[in-house]
Amino acid sequence: MAHLGYLSMSDGDIPPPRRERAFLDVIPHSRPTLGKTETEPVSRVILSGHIAQGRAVSDFEHSVARVIGTREAVACSSGTAALHLTLLAMKIGAGDEVVFPSYVCSAVLHAVRYVGADPVLAEADPVTCNIDPQDVRKRLTPRTRAIIVPHLFGLAADLKPIISLGVPVIEDCAQALGADYHGRKAGSLGHAAIFSFYATKVITTGEGGMVLSDSRELLNRVRDAREYDQKKDPGLRYNYKMTDMQAAMGLVQMKQLPSFIEKRRSIAKRYDAAFNKLRIGLPPEDQGHIYYRYVMRLRGDVASVIEDLGRKGIRSARPVHMPLHRYLRTEGYPLTERIWNESLSIPIYPSLTGSEVARIMGSVTDVLRRRIS
Ligand SMILES: *Cc1c(COP(=O)(O)O)cnc(C)c1O
Repeated sequence: MAHLGYLSMSDGDIPPPRRERAFLDVIPHSRPTLGKTETEPVSRVILSGHIAQGRAVSDFEHSVARVIGTREAVACSSGTAALHLTLLAMKIGAGDEVVFPSYVCSAVLHAVRYVGADPVLAEADPVTCNIDPQDVRKRLTPRTRAIIVPHLFGLAADLKPIISLGVPVIEDCAQALGADYHGRKAGSLGHAAIFSFYATKVITTGEGGMVLSDSRELLNRVRDAREYDQKKDPGLRYNYKMTDMQAAMGLVQMKQLPSFIEKRRSIAKRYDAAFNKLRIGLPPEDQGHIYYRYVMRLRGDVASVIEDLGRKGIRSARPVHMPLHRYLRTEGYPLTERIWNESLSIPIYPSLTGSEVARIMGSVTDVLRRRIS
């Protein structure tokens, strides 16, 4: 990137000041919020010599369980692993059906396929983009063993009508750490909940995941399947452990969660005010929303808006890469298709500076106004 600024330099020239290169700065779609707060505790773990799963991992598990309000938690290597371990612990496998929305990332489909269960896809609610409880009810059969409910973009799905169907619910909180549903934390209402601490998520450990539940029995099975060593029986086990280096990062990230969420909400407020005048759909207003993603709904061609913003140095994306029914080569999900076609996610994260937020608002307004008029 920087080399462009040096093209006209001859030997001995003084490099141009940083601000002359500012026009080349790209604002990424996601960026973790990291600094000395993280490097110091992680360094301490490295120097201690105990770097694999140990004390820091169990401290991190307790800190997440305390904030969400479940009895216990079990950390693991990723959100996908957390979902895999949860399905295993629920003894779900071949011949069983698991219901989840088509509009979610493919990690969910993979985890269901790991255990050999049959995926049953449900439609999304056209306003919230979350799984539609009415549609879930229609998809239940005597073989349904679980419903996976992702809380997309930081907004809790409508859990009550889904829980009342009487099938065990796994909350997928990978995008909703700290989000509220009717005054309770997302992740505390279902049979179990999974979280992800991948680099782009609400808090990060680089890669990482966690299973939360009030059921000690379920979590003991998750804990057992997470590691292979020192077992007496020949049952199948995995190596899905988190390291103490990751957990040390997770612990200090957890402490910052309230300020991270506050920052996300204040940026969303600025975006709402700026984009109100444009004829586009804004994210649903909800007190419990943590704005993991700021997703706008456009009528026009989202792909070309992504391109136009890219030319201005602002990275944006479709918030779900591809609906899962397309991977399964099935049809009949018109609402999911419509949401996918209309949705655009722009940068929103705590490390965005005030001037970056202003630049994003200016560029988005500019690009969209030109299209609408
Ligand atoms: C990121 C994500 C996952 C998977 O988490 P990984 O840590 O990347 O394996 C699962 N579900 C949802 C909704 C996600 O956003």
